Amino acid sequence: MAKTASVSPVHEKLGYRSEADLLLHLPLRYEDETRLTPIRDLRPGQSALVEGIVERAEILYRPRRQLLVTLAEPGSAETFHFRMLNFYPSQQAQLKPGARLRLFGDIRPGFFGAEMVHPRWRRVAEGAPLPDTLTPIYPTVAGLSQTRIQKAVATLLEAADLSETLPAVLLDRLGLQAFETAIRRLHGPQPEDSLASLERHEHPAWRRIKFDELLTQQLSLRLHAGQRRRQRAPVLADAGLSERLLAALPFPLTGAQRRALGEIRADLGQPHPMHRLLQGDVGSGKTCVAALAALVAVGAGQQAAVMAPTEILAEQLYLKFREWLEPLGIRVAWLAAALKGKAKREAMAEIADGRAAVAVGTHALFQDEVAFRSLALAIVDEQHRFGVEQRLALRGKGVDRMPHLLMMSATPIPRSLAMSYFADLDVSVIDELPPGRKPIATKVAGSAKRDEVIARLRDYCGGGAQAYWVCPLVEESGKIDLKAAIDAHAELVAELPNLRIGLAHGRLKADEKAAVMAAFKAGELDLLVATTVIEVGVDVPNASLMVIEHAERMGLAQLHQLRGRVGRGGRESTCLLLYAEPLSETARRRLRIIKDSQDGFAIAREDLALRGPGEFLGARQSGAPMLRFADLEADQDLLELARDAAGHLLRHEPEAVRRHLARWLPRGLDLLHA
Ligand code: ADP
Ligand code: MG
Repeated sequence: MAKTASVSPVHEKLGYRSEADLLLHLPLRYEDETRLTPIRDLRPGQSALVEGIVERAEILYRPRRQLLVTLAEPGSAETFHFRMLNFYPSQQAQLKPGARLRLFGDIRPGFFGAEMVHPRWRRVAEGAPLPDTLTPIYPTVAGLSQTRIQKAVATLLEAADLSETLPAVLLDRLGLQAFETAIRRLHGPQPEDSLASLERHEHPAWRRIKFDELLTQQLSLRLHAGQRRRQRAPVLADAGLSERLLAALPFPLTGAQRRALGEIRADLGQPHPMHRLLQGDVGSGKTCVAALAALVAVGAGQQAAVMAPTEILAEQLYLKFREWLEPLGIRVAWLAAALKGKAKREAMAEIADGRAAVAVGTHALFQDEVAFRSLALAIVDEQHRFGVEQRLALRGKGVDRMPHLLMMSATPIPRSLAMSYFADLDVSVIDELPPGRKPIATKVAGSAKRDEVIARLRDYCGGGAQAYWVCPLVEESGKIDLKAAIDAHAELVAELPNLRIGLAHGRLKADEKAAVMAAFKAGELDLLVATTVIEVGVDVPNASLMVIEHAERMGLAQLHQLRGRVGRGGRESTCLLLYAEPLSETARRRLRIIKDSQDGFAIAREDLALRGPGEFLGARQSGAPMLRFADLEADQDLLELARDAAGHLLRHEPEAVRRHLARWLPRGLDLLHA
């Protein structure tokens, strides 16, 4: 297949590098220019192709400058008008009386009867043939006209390699069209094709393309898995350190934690890199499993790196790791972007010479300048918040071998997706909460109740309990607005003079933030006003009440995570969701879900139903590349067919695999799956 050398300016404008990219630049919709509509049949609200001869083209200046063109229909007495609000002299020159035009556009009621505004138009010769296929309308970018894309695709279709990549028997068995049939159909459907089925991506031609795309995913996932199994990673055998931590912990592991740890240990004992997701609801005890895993690496004389997406989260992990590991004589280094000067140089030196067996931090750990003596295990908390490149960067730190990778997430990936889409990911699930957790009573109230809530806080915190007051972060034109939290803090301080009230948000300096969190943890603060920075990971068992303002603005997963900050101690816990009126129907349903359920998986499922998987699996959340054509929920059946086909092809049809990937991944497997 032709590559970089021959790509056209259209390819370049669209950011494409290979021929196949443009071939797969599929239309958004179609316009029917296969027949002319007589002027007397035009109805407002429709779009139509009209032919006429220019009678007059005049510039009007009211209500604004515009070109008004009057057309006469050949062979009838009917006339028709169209307007152009932006036009060039060159266009005006083409619209001379007597010019024959075809125009396509939406019909609108106008002063002189039905008319069009800014139709697509071109001059034609008398009797010029009409197209016999629907006109494709492509996604485009500024400075690239539909006509140019249409021409480029049409030219490409004449010369391009549309040969079949898949064996005919397979296509027959799956009831799929040939690639060439499908691709020609999508770029130029027949007038009798259902526009609705094309636009909903349900047409058989679309099924073939979606299948190809999903098959590509499945093939590349499996090839990656194969590559990973061929890569070398240090074999980590536990020298008893993790047993010592287990003995020192104030609690026994839950059955689910033990099972997960067993799976991780088994992976670490293999000579190829682990690629495992540890999934467990908020509060299920993932941190402690991670610490035990880190000890397996340290016990084998190697290093572990632990990373979280925000500084507050990373710091919580750091404190936990120190609490657990330092008594065993293990040094834990701290590295975050805010760390400067001498402290930073020292941390990096400790990591580089191996004095620090464990390093905890933010993405600062990914930086090139950070060198490990012998990194054998990378642990990534809340993995869905990191991008693929960042994870790759960390894996690159294993000098001559890959470190094992353990990812943790409280956002569950539906099992079917974990098994198929993320085929190269092993999953351990902690499906059991530590014993003694009290259910959290969740209440929902309008913001009119706010004063009442503040009054109740006085007694509540006065009685020795601690509480969170959470305000949403408002993001305006790219800037994070902390005003809500700062105002709430000022107001609560004024209203509740007897309470000790702290404020935590992402903009505080690291040491200020640490001081506030430490004071809250030590019981020196009664009430902590915070932005959603406390969303995950923060662990203060004595805090048993959480008030969340503007709960209607937050995602369900986020609310669930926030709520998981309470209910960790002996006290009955409450989460109060305050919302601003009026509440939309969807918002009401969402708050009801969170009120009625405490099961993170059930909540994620409902969230998925309300928001759709695109968002759930967005590149941002999963680090997985987005599919261009297929939809993981709607196309479950195709996904399964593709998964089976991938297995079969890899075993029996290596040539078909090569052909298929050459078309769909012309640049190789690149960064697709880290
Ligand atoms: P998450 O899975 O949300 O990261 P954490 O690891 O922060 O959960 O654990 C939540 C709390 O539960 C912590 O205070 C932790 O010490 C405690 N914990 C963890 N495992 C157990 C257990 N097996 N029994 C009792 N408490 C536990
Ligand atoms: Mg956690």
